[in-house]
Amino acid sequence: MDLRKDAAALADDLVRLRRDLHQIPEVGLRLPRTQEKVLEALDGLPLEISTGKDVTSVTAVLRGQGGDGDVVLLRGDMDALPVTEQTGAEYTSRHDGMMHACGHDLHTAGLVGAARLLSQHRERLAGDVVFMFQPGEEGWNGAGHMIDEGVLDAAGRPVDAAFGIHVLSSIVPNGKFSSRPGPLMAASDGLHVRVVGAGGHGSRPFQALDPVPVAAEMVTALQTLATRRFDVFDPVVITVGVFHAGTRRNIIPDDAYFEATVRSFSAEARERAAELTVRLCREIAASHGLEAEVRYTEEYPVTVNDTSSHEFAAETVREVFGEERFLPLASPSTGSEDFSRVLDRVPGAFVFLGATFAEDPDTTAYNHSPRAAFDDSVVADAATLLAELAVRRLAP
Ligand SMILES: [Zn+2]
Repeated sequence: MDLRKDAAALADDLVRLRRDLHQIPEVGLRLPRTQEKVLEALDGLPLEISTGKDVTSVTAVLRGQGGDGDVVLLRGDMDALPVTEQTGAEYTSRHDGMMHACGHDLHTAGLVGAARLLSQHRERLAGDVVFMFQPGEEGWNGAGHMIDEGVLDAAGRPVDAAFGIHVLSSIVPNGKFSSRPGPLMAASDGLHVRVVGAGGHGSRPFQALDPVPVAAEMVTALQTLATRRFDVFDPVVITVGVFHAGTRRNIIPDDAYFEATVRSFSAEARERAAELTVRLCREIAASHGLEAEVRYTEEYPVTVNDTSSHEFAAETVREVFGEERFLPLASPSTGSEDFSRVLDRVPGAFVFLGATFAEDPDTTAYNHSPRAAFDDSVVADAATLLAELAVRRLAP
């Protein structure tokens, strides 16, 4: 069995599928056209296929010859972003204001490739494989929805190991796989603050309760909090990305509103951030005689690679593609991922794959940029790695 060779024979097909998907990006939990394409691409394979009730997910189970052997889950997310594409690619997005700017079209095609490869070699699988085609990764908790709908028990018994790949349009050189044991990606939470004051004439602030300087003080105090109250080796990132207040320069508004994203890399730091940011904002408001309505929303947990699963994935890359194709990642990424919800429940690993066009990967647009371009020549390797991980993990 030479999966790499088999994948090479599928490569043109997978690239075509990826480019088709690239032209019809859909955002969120409902991706009907994408789902249709995936179902079409899986048609004829010996899979037990089910689709989500509330979301347009696709779950496919491939029965190996193991009877009651282990179950491996392979995951690909399918959703796009509300970004207007500026890559100039000939297969550019045809959906206005939407773009596969995070490469999930490659993930989808790669997972289809793995399903084809493993279907060809079913007799070699000493267990079952669950293919998880997931909508709504970009802040919609698609993985959580699929878990609620039973993806981790899709084979009729619990999944024993889970693997996924994420392509990057910069940072990692083309064709290199990269990952690390332990925390791989940040937890991502939201801080929502409304500072409630009392509006008035801009010339008479002493007769009003001005929420603007108080909210501004919170924004800077949050940065002090991040550097003074957290271990430098277990850091947090706090970025205020929304700030709204007022209508005219000579009017003091009634309230001011801002939102921040809060990233952390351990459960402990995450818990502290949830407590300290909320308290800081409330107490700053109180000390100025105003009130703050503060909400802290937990979004995605830390993505944690189980140490032995990471070692296994790295070893598989080295054996299948060669020593030089695996780059150990020194520090976690500040991005976040809802595959973390799967890895919270099942040991496994998530691996980055360089899909940049640039010679120097640090010089080109990163994922989510309207100019983020992904080289789909890596898609066959993505399919190969997923399939190899399943075969090897299931081997008795
Ligand atoms: Zn992504």
